[in-house]
Amino acid sequence: MSGVGKGISVSSIGKILQAKGFKVNAVKVDPYLNVDAGTMNPTEHGEVYVLSSGMECDQDMGNYERFMELNLGHDDYITSGMVYKYVIEKERNLGYKGKCVEAIPHITSEITRRIQKAAEMSGSDISIIEIGGTVGDYQNIMFIEAARVLNLKNPDDVIFVMVSYLPVPSTLGEMKTKPTQNAIHMLNSYGVQPDIIIARGAVPLDERRKEKIAISCNVYPENVISAPDIESVYDVPVNFEKDKLGETLLKTLKIKAKTKKDGLTKWKQFITKTKSAKEEVNIAIVGKYFDTGDFVLSDAYISVIESIKYSAYDFGRKPKLTWLNAKDFESGKKDVSELGNYDGIIVPGGFGESGIEGKLKVIKYARENKIPYFGLCYGMQLMVVEYARNVLGLKEANTTEINLTTEHPVIDIMPEQKKNLAEGKYGATMRLGSYPAHLKDGTIAKKAYGKEIISERHRHRYEVNPNYVEELKKGGLIFSGKSPDGVLMEIAELPKKIHPFFLGTQFHPEFQSRPLHPHELFSAFIEAAIEKRGRK
Ligand code: GLN
Repeated sequence: MSGVGKGISVSSIGKILQAKGFKVNAVKVDPYLNVDAGTMNPTEHGEVYVLSSGMECDQDMGNYERFMELNLGHDDYITSGMVYKYVIEKERNLGYKGKCVEAIPHITSEITRRIQKAAEMSGSDISIIEIGGTVGDYQNIMFIEAARVLNLKNPDDVIFVMVSYLPVPSTLGEMKTKPTQNAIHMLNSYGVQPDIIIARGAVPLDERRKEKIAISCNVYPENVISAPDIESVYDVPVNFEKDKLGETLLKTLKIKAKTKKDGLTKWKQFITKTKSAKEEVNIAIVGKYFDTGDFVLSDAYISVIESIKYSAYDFGRKPKLTWLNAKDFESGKKDVSELGNYDGIIVPGGFGESGIEGKLKVIKYARENKIPYFGLCYGMQLMVVEYARNVLGLKEANTTEINLTTEHPVIDIMPEQKKNLAEGKYGATMRLGSYPAHLKDGTIAKKAYGKEIISERHRHRYEVNPNYVEELKKGGLIFSGKSPDGVLMEIAELPKKIHPFFLGTQFHPEFQSRPLHPHELFSAFIEAAIEKRGRK
């Protein structure tokens, strides 16, 4: 079921297997017909996560990469749209040599081919495949059928784990196993028998229900893993291990652990940090993807949020995050002076016109009042617009994303992108994935990274207009990171003596921050925020 925690279950299973000495990879299978997640609205679908290869995918891929410290590739993400598109194009090119092409076996064998290719490319010992959606959906039936065939052909190598939800109806106050039993019956009718059941619920599973699930679902009691709601997703691997999930996985796969050491030691140290931090660092995120209620927000900016947390924990601080809607500053519903209450402000990535003038007001306030400011992609572009307008005096300065005929297009579309937009080609056409940048000596960026050349992930169509770079520099803005040919401005900042931290990146550093390796720039920002807090 969506939202029940399949992604975190996969990430945690991976973490546990890594802790037992195995090399793992993880593949996410999304049943929708979108070819990738790039064109999806973040308010509905959550964050679009970008891999270093440039693949735009589901936010679960971010969880996989963060938990398992993996660098996943194009092969590790599969959608129905991708599979159907490939099979139909192959048919159009006579790739099936005149045969009648059908969902079964052609779609299913394309799915298994992709899963096996992903495993081979990764060189891993164990591959974990997450099938999105719910048992009983029409949408994911091809993937379950493909999994059945994969198991039939490799009976010693494939096991099934089902993540099931056990509701506690408030009128009864008792955990019900019936939906899980019914789900198993349905899975069985597809020819699939789970080996392990992860029983998600508000409370832990008691022995009676464990037995009940085991008997009715045809699994061993020790293969039913209790997975109650817990404070933090990072506790999940350790919690699974309380029910010996690792041992059960290895027993079911008939393999032995490659190490006897507790491979979760560092992970446990990280968890201790998350729980022991007392003093807060108070960060405001000024965004616009609020439209369907606050609970969605954390999904739309999940990588940004997690990155803030990792750096805050690393400094022994408890991150306090506040969502501010840019539109409220635009309309005057909120006054920018309230920003003084925060230790740091982030304007994350975004698209289009809505809330822009509000974000510009926020950036101006942060600059003038020396509040640490970190702009991510759109947040960097708007930082440049604000600087051009209010410091250089180019009152009309704007990005051509908003005003095509602006007198001062300080942010402009990349030439190769103009054609894509004119032809209505939106899918997977942005500047995507990892590109290198060279850092300038004596800057905040260089000091934070401690190296000359970095590689960061991108997702944008617009950039700092090269025609304005000289003027912006003369006006005091430093471009501390540039593409190797010096044409694209990757990082903009103000000198530390002018502002404690006023820095924006054309790339998305949030996609490379990991619990055990917080991102250098997030850490520099949080450090500045902590210093500001000290000054208060
Ligand atoms: N909308 C901007 C662009 O396309 C910024 C994109 C982003 O923030 N990811 O360049």
